[in-house]
Amino acid sequence: MNNDRMSTVKTAICDSSHSDPTRLNPLSSVCISGRPEFHHQTLWHYLEKAGHAVYRFTEDLALLDAVGARSPSAIVYEIPAGRERAVQFLNQLAKLNHDACVILVGPEIGAESVAHCLRSGAFDYLTVPVSPARFMTSLHEGLVNRHTFRAVRNLSQELAQSNEQLAEERNALKHWNRTLLALNHLTQVLTASLDSETIVRSLFTGLATLVPLDIIGLACTEPHRVMTWSRSSAWTCQEMQVREWLLRHFPEDAKPRTSSRPPLDLVGAGALSREDCAPLSSFPAMGDDRHTMTIPLPLSPDTQGVLYLERREGTFTETEFKMLSTVGTSLAMALRNASTHQMIQELALRDSMTGLSNRRALEDVLAREFKGGFRYSSSACLLLVDLDHFKAINDQLGHLAGDQVLRSTAALMRRAVRDIDVVGRYGGEEFGIVLPHTDLDCALVLAERLRREIESQKFDAEQGIVRITASIGIAHIPAVTIRSVSEWIAAADSALYGAKALGRNRVVVHVPGQAVSVAGATLTFAAP
Ligand code: GH3
Ligand code: MG
Ligand code: MG
Repeated sequence: MNNDRMSTVKTAICDSSHSDPTRLNPLSSVCISGRPEFHHQTLWHYLEKAGHAVYRFTEDLALLDAVGARSPSAIVYEIPAGRERAVQFLNQLAKLNHDACVILVGPEIGAESVAHCLRSGAFDYLTVPVSPARFMTSLHEGLVNRHTFRAVRNLSQELAQSNEQLAEERNALKHWNRTLLALNHLTQVLTASLDSETIVRSLFTGLATLVPLDIIGLACTEPHRVMTWSRSSAWTCQEMQVREWLLRHFPEDAKPRTSSRPPLDLVGAGALSREDCAPLSSFPAMGDDRHTMTIPLPLSPDTQGVLYLERREGTFTETEFKMLSTVGTSLAMALRNASTHQMIQELALRDSMTGLSNRRALEDVLAREFKGGFRYSSSACLLLVDLDHFKAINDQLGHLAGDQVLRSTAALMRRAVRDIDVVGRYGGEEFGIVLPHTDLDCALVLAERLRREIESQKFDAEQGIVRITASIGIAHIPAVTIRSVSEWIAAADSALYGAKALGRNRVVVHVPGQAVSVAGATLTFAAP
């Protein structure tokens, strides 16, 4: 190489390394592969002098190993023979998943073969003898191309990562959306029901699908209730522990205690604070691997309640804590509504003055017993009890004294019958007593005892002691002449009329087979 040519090489190398940092920077590593004579070229020497790492190879195998190990920036590969050898080498190279810029150097092989080499992964094909300027331009462009390729590859990797992240966030949002829908559904189901049994059932099934839980417990006073649920029979033992603990805190005979915490305003209350949800002071140590949470239920100032939650896997998260607090608020509201509803229902069926069942409730019981008697041929009796000459008490002692006598008689009757019997105020000074599963003989004994107790009772009134008697009519089912509740009442009424007609203060049984008029029952028979 003459001096002019050498300076051209130097200039080309210097130009390419100074004008653009992406050009032959000191970190560029170039693998040169070819026959020993190929390595003698001054070009490679100057490349090294300019600070580039140059590695020389004469064997393809060694070159391929180096490409795998060092990831060179460029490969200059001399083709000793035709294009087949070059394409074969390029194919082997492709398997290494490299990103080096490959420049082939060889004899004239024709445009078609060159195109084939380029399609197989070469960046350029230089025909010998190679001019230094042509080589440097090719190397420079190849490295810029490699740089661009790397930048695009990095960008697409970042894009793929972002896409993955987006997909994860979308999945998290979907999950969150499903959870919120389930929470909304559960709170709606809870507050939509007025029956406490249904509320608790919905709570247990709904809560366990909302948050992973192994055991759920619910306890409250007024009405007393301790219920537990566990995910599977594997948890029965722990469930029993929780139940025992709840029963100790909420014993059946516990007097309602006033909570030390001011009652929450249920209408305005949102989720409870973490302080509200802290475990109760004497909360049992269930073991390190059991994560528990108790949520106080603000049912009323006098009524305590608690929702107990437990699981083995994972502590409760802040989000779960908020969700469960919301469920606790809805549950408390639902139970409170159910209790108010039940109270109203009970009031609607109760006679306010005597506390007995009212006429409507009594007729419901009659209907139930009549249906049972009809279906299973079981006996039942209805007693109609009418106080004798009651008007005289009102007239002589006043209405308030009359009320007092009615209340005392009601209490006496309630004491005189069994638990399964139902005593109701049928109207005025007339009472009905339903005796389920009772034949006529037993009913007669009970009625006679009742009549005597009323007769011997000394009722206290302001004006002094009041004595009173009662007439009682009995109708028994099943009876051929009694085909409806109305006919049953009418039968008892007719017997009662009989008792009055025979002089009062006596028990009369309706005799089946004799005519009974439903509208305005008339006496047809009365036997003491
Ligand atoms: P009999 O022996 O025929 O049944 O005579 P009686 O006076 O008991 O029957 P009557 O039907 O003539 O009068 C019933 C009285 O009961 C009249 C009514 O003022 C009275 N009474 C009905 N309900 C009440 C009540 O709630 N309180 C009071 N103090 N009296 C009542
Ligand atoms: Mg009367
Ligand atoms: Mg009457």
